[in-house]
Amino acid sequence: MSTAKFSSLALKPALLENIESLGYTHLTPIQAESLPHILEGRDVIAQAKTGSGKTAAFGIGLLSKLDLNSFRVQAMVVCPTRELADQVCKEIRRLARFTQNIKVLTLCGGVPFGPQRASLEHGVHVVVGTPGRLQEHLGKRSLRLSNLKVLVLDEADRMLDMGFEEAITDVISYAPTHRQTLLFSATYTDPIREISQKFQFKPVSVSIETSH
Ligand code: ADP
Ligand code: MG
Repeated sequence: MSTAKFSSLALKPALLENIESLGYTHLTPIQAESLPHILEGRDVIAQAKTGSGKTAAFGIGLLSKLDLNSFRVQAMVVCPTRELADQVCKEIRRLARFTQNIKVLTLCGGVPFGPQRASLEHGVHVVVGTPGRLQEHLGKRSLRLSNLKVLVLDEADRMLDMGFEEAITDVISYAPTHRQTLLFSATYTDPIREISQKFQFKPVSVSIETSH
């Protein structure tokens, strides 16, 4: 843990209460490095090993940007696998658990398309999905991103390893240019730097070195 406390951040009181109800008092090192920039609205590229609390870093960041009166998609998290998308969705819901009427939806393949389209029609604030199914919803106009404020690429290194670069590029082509783009990765390699250059604007780069 770092020495920084969540109560020292300029968070909405309800969000802070949610976070503290999970037993999170202090920020993990990657959260301490990235969250202040994320809350300022900067694009951030963040690298830290698995298990370091990256989900809450972008989860708190995107939750603090939502206008819950508007049932439009305002934040989208792109993940490499269905399992990871489910985990991210669960963590975002946990971080928002006492917030009334917040809709977080997973959009992954392997399950029928129709119910997902119906959920989208009912109004959703946050979508978490895998590149292929997101592409499908965007192509069929069941998912619209004109109100998107925050785009997160989670486990970006794994998505590149899995050959998702083209699909991600296509998904992002539907997003507004004026948005915040957050890129999270367990490793910091040349291909990661390249996609950062492609999709981010003047990103702040933060990295937590693993000590052996
Ligand atoms: P990563 O994405 O970096 O692999 P996760 O986001 O999955 O890591 O977080 C790992 C674990 O740490 C989760 O169980 C999460 O609930 C917990 N966690 C995250 N932030 C905090 C915090 N500030 N204090 C305590 N536990 C935390
Ligand atoms: Mg993660």
